[in-house]
This record gives sequence, structure tokens and C-alpha cells, in this order.
Amino acid sequence: MLEVSPEKGILILHGVRHVMLSVQSFAALCTTLIQGFGAGMRAVLYDAGFRTGHDFVGYSARRFGVERLEEVLQHIIDGDALEGWGRYEVVSVDRQQRRVVIRVYNSIAARAFPQSEQPACDFLRGYFAGIFTAIFDQPVRCEETQCMALGNPFCEFRIEPEQ
Ligand SMILES: [Zn+2]
Repeated sequence: MLEVSPEKGILILHGVRHVMLSVQSFAALCTTLIQGFGAGMRAVLYDAGFRTGHDFVGYSARRFGVERLEEVLQHIIDGDALEGWGRYEVVSVDRQQRRVVIRVYNSIAARAFPQSEQPACDFLRGYFAGIFTAIFDQPVRCEETQCMALGNPFCEFRIEPEQ
């Protein structure tokens, strides 16, 4: 599952090379990008998350088969929790309406921006949009309706069809 090779400077998890990043480094990276490039950078973080989610689901689907939705989601939930992105809870899934509600406890972005005035988890928002665009094979959008960075007890994401 986890291979660490300090002599080569390589860390491999589930067959994929990873890099460890502290929450402080993640926060510094995001803050520098937003300060340097303005609020539009949030859309860039969303797009980066979308690409990651879309491609990761493609990887999962090859292993499990997209028709086995629960197994694909559990694989994502467990893998991301192991990597420290937070703990996801699927509140509801409506395959026909393409609507999903997910709660995230201990989101890394919410931890990185504890005093935010707006939902802070743009990367995760894009990530979930990418995942469910791949699963439903139709474009969806994702809004973050609650965020720990705003003082809510969890972050909540609502996925629905793109209008
Ligand atoms: Zn959040």
C-alpha cells in the first residue's frame, strides 16, 4: 500500500507517487496564489480539483467498474482519509436526478483558512464536481453550502446537474 524510499526521495501510495505537504505549506501555496493572482485563483483551484477528481474516478472505475458506485465512493473516501484530506460522508445520492450531498469533516482547506469569510474549499468543490461528472457521464456543478472555515461543524457540498 505505502512504499517509502528515502534514498530515492520517492513515496508511493496505492501504486501512485505522492508528495507529503503540511497544512501550513498547503495554506501558504493557496494564499500566495490568491494574493498574487486575485479572486480568480479560486476558479483555478476549482479547475485543478475538477481535473484531479475526474482523472481519479477514471482510475477507480478501471479497478471497480463505475456501475459499482458504492465501492467506488468507498474507495475514494478511504483513500482520501488516509491521505489526510478529511473524512467524507455521503449524505444522499440520487442517480436519476444526478444530485449528491456530501459532508466533509476536517477538510484541509478549512483547516488552512480558519478565519475565512466565505466557503474555503474550492479545490474539494471542483474535485467532487469532477468525480460526479465522470460517474454520471454528464456535467454537474458543485456548491459548498457549509464550511468549517465559517464555523460550521462540517463542510457540505451539493452536487447537481449543470443548468
Ligand atoms: Zn469547507
